[in-house]
Amino acid sequence: NTNISGTITLKDGTAVTKMGQGTWNMGDSTATRDEEIAALRLGVELGMNLIDTAEMYGDGRSEEMVGEAIRGIRDQVFLVSKVHPQNAGLDRITRSCEESLKRLGTDHLDLYLLHWRGKVPLEETVKGMEQLVASGKIARWGVSNLDTADMKELLRIPGGDRCAVNQVLYHLGSRGIEHELLPWQRTHKIPVMAYSPLAQAGTLRKGVTENETVREIAANHGATPLQIMLAWSIREGDIIAIPKASSGKHVTENAAAAKIRLSEEECWKLDDAFPQPAWKVPLDMI
Ligand code: NDP
Repeated sequence: NTNISGTITLKDGTAVTKMGQGTWNMGDSTATRDEEIAALRLGVELGMNLIDTAEMYGDGRSEEMVGEAIRGIRDQVFLVSKVHPQNAGLDRITRSCEESLKRLGTDHLDLYLLHWRGKVPLEETVKGMEQLVASGKIARWGVSNLDTADMKELLRIPGGDRCAVNQVLYHLGSRGIEHELLPWQRTHKIPVMAYSPLAQAGTLRKGVTENETVREIAANHGATPLQIMLAWSIREGDIIAIPKASSGKHVTENAAAAKIRLSEEECWKLDDAFPQPAWKVPLDMI
């Protein structure tokens, strides 16, 4: 695929696109479903072949919609889903995974994530994940919403170092992970997958898109402020961003954002406008 938007390499050597596609709140309405499916398929064509979903999203409706979108192109897609913490114990994880596979119309996931840490001990989830790897139902596993202390604990568990990624909230308006978690993950070769890289919608995003510096940089690149947000999130080349878009227009813009290279000077200006915290702050979550 000549449009491939650039890749990063996981610990096991697998190349993954830096710009993927989120699917939270998709598949919920029959009125928009066809457009959403077309948008996802266009995204794959444009090189955003990582698709992120979860059993929790719309109680399985997101997975069902993704299943329809990837029909016939499954082999081109790096498919990610997540297990709800309540289902992350040995008694439930296999069944949860199998139900996700059924909704997605596939026989394996490329990556299965613990959605966030709940009451089930991490040891048990690691065992469950490794069993799923052994049975071929998932190619690899990772976690989501784990802060540094949890990640350290995970890596002390036998097999815990097989964690492929940690998916966490990260965008220009929320840079808390840069203080500790991101450098720690870099040291351990566990890439960050940045969720809500466009800060969803609403006031927090407005603070970024209406910022003078962001607007000026966007104008210089002939881009939108949101494209600058996306380009910024993957600027260092070792982070995967998964913006969610439900129209062809948005998907096309997001794919193009993966090709925008911000200069060092532009990054400094953005540091001034949106400084990273000077001390450790708790992991931001949605
Ligand atoms: P995003 O930050 O990706 O923002 C999505 C919003 O941005 C939508 O309203 C979308 O509109 C809009 N948008 C997308 N592209 C454009 C564009 N080019 N121009 C203008 N607007 C645009 O929010 P999400 O919270 O959805 O995060 C992305 C994904 O991350 C989720 O979908 C999910 O897969 C994952 N996630 C994981 C979490 C976790 O706990 N692990 C938590 C939160 C998210 P429209 O739909 O109309 O295109």
